[in-house]
Amino acid sequence: MRPGTAASRAALRRRSFEERLAARRNQAVEDAKFRARQAHGKLRRFVRIRFKKEEVVEALSLRRGDCNRCGECCEILFKCPFLKKHGDGTTTCGIYEDRPTQCRLFPLDRRDLNEVRGTCSFYFIEKPIKLERAS
Ligand code: SF4
Ligand code: SF4
Repeated sequence: MRPGTAASRAALRRRSFEERLAARRNQAVEDAKFRARQAHGKLRRFVRIRFKKEEVVEALSLRRGDCNRCGECCEILFKCPFLKKHGDGTTTCGIYEDRPTQCRLFPLDRRDLNEVRGTCSFYFIEKPIKLERAS
């Protein structure tokens, strides 16, 4: 096919359409995976906080940093109706004093950070290795 002909232009258009379609499909797959991760994370935190308190205490002992009030954790799967957004990019919770334990303790571990697209300012250190005493 000679470049510049009607047939080559049509082929180019078709290819760019197919590429756009593929990009959109990939984006949809990535979004679906992200939302599945969020759903799984919500359930995991619920179970851990309710039934695995010791594990939660241990996990939180490895957490460092402070909340920057980005509010991303209040939009996991859906936007919480109590979330208030401000002009400077920060957010506040409309029921801060009474917010659920799951909100108070987010993030529990590194995996939770994968649900907020990199905006959370908390981070986690490695678990210290226990050295066995030589006998
Ligand atoms: S209750 Fe408050 S802290 Fe919890 S998700 Fe809603 S706005 Fe965020
Ligand atoms: S995502 Fe992290 S930094 Fe942002 S509001 Fe939630 S806990 Fe705070």
